[in-house]
Amino acid sequence: MKTEKLLVFIGPACNNNCIFCSVSDRRKNELDRSTEDIKKEILLGKEKGFKKIEFIGGEPTIRRDICELVFFAKNNGFEKISITTNGRMLSYEKFCNDLIKSGLNAICFSLNATNNEINKKINKSEVALKQTLKGMDNLKKFEKVHLSVNTIVQKLNYKSLNEISKLISSFGIKEWYIANLVPDGAAKHNYLDILVRLKEIKPIINNLLKDIEDFESINVFDFPLCIFNKEIFSNKKINIYSLNYSSVVTQIGGQSKKRLTYKTGKQTIRDIYKIKTEKCMECILKEKCGGLWKDYFKLWGDEELIPFSESFL
Ligand code: SF4
Repeated sequence: MKTEKLLVFIGPACNNNCIFCSVSDRRKNELDRSTEDIKKEILLGKEKGFKKIEFIGGEPTIRRDICELVFFAKNNGFEKISITTNGRMLSYEKFCNDLIKSGLNAICFSLNATNNEINKKINKSEVALKQTLKGMDNLKKFEKVHLSVNTIVQKLNYKSLNEISKLISSFGIKEWYIANLVPDGAAKHNYLDILVRLKEIKPIINNLLKDIEDFESINVFDFPLCIFNKEIFSNKKINIYSLNYSSVVTQIGGQSKKRLTYKTGKQTIRDIYKIKTEKCMECILKEKCGGLWKDYFKLWGDEELIPFSESFL
């Protein structure tokens, strides 16, 4: 059985307006994909042997056909069917029941703050955090539904990652995705205001990761590998994702530009958002690591990178 997950982008529409959204520009001239288009992609994924599927956006739960799509995936043999969501629609219990009855068995909530003051600066909504937390509360009673949380690290929340971890744990959620900002869409427009310097996040994230007792797994995305302390790489509960350093997802359609370029097989050679600097050329992990965001490099150069030497192995 194929263990990789098929990511299905359903379109850019959303009921939030986050300052870090990487697809916000696509909302101006792109409608959400049609039901038929998405069903075709589900069938293509089935042909390719995928058993895990995740609907991403935008916001999958604001589509009128989301239950139909989930049911279609279930009927076509997908065993793990998930959505990544801001969770606001999941504050409605009936909607939660409908989704689960259709076959949804995993949900990844986006959670970027623990208090409303910060949250409304991030997604411009007075009520979003309350709704997300209600959604998490509604879902925790479904024992067979796997819950996880996704947090985008940015200036407004990086100092409170520890508090976010406690809030997640209070719902009994055991899996956490921590991702670096992708400088596209709103995140690109706001980059200088919302990015966190590597030297600032490095001690915080290493401290956080060394003490993860409350979680079964923490997945960290898109940071240069050299910000992590050596012991983080050997912690079996922590998965670090960057270019060829672990890969668990595939996206067939729905991308405005192809982010990753592959050589033969699954060897990834390029991420269009990133650059390998001269320092990276000395690093033994240069084939595995994505490197530095181009936008970051333009602003701050590569002085914070510390190439790995042979002694890392
Ligand atoms: S030096 Fe470059 S290639 Fe090596 S871990 Fe850092 S960013 Fe990645």
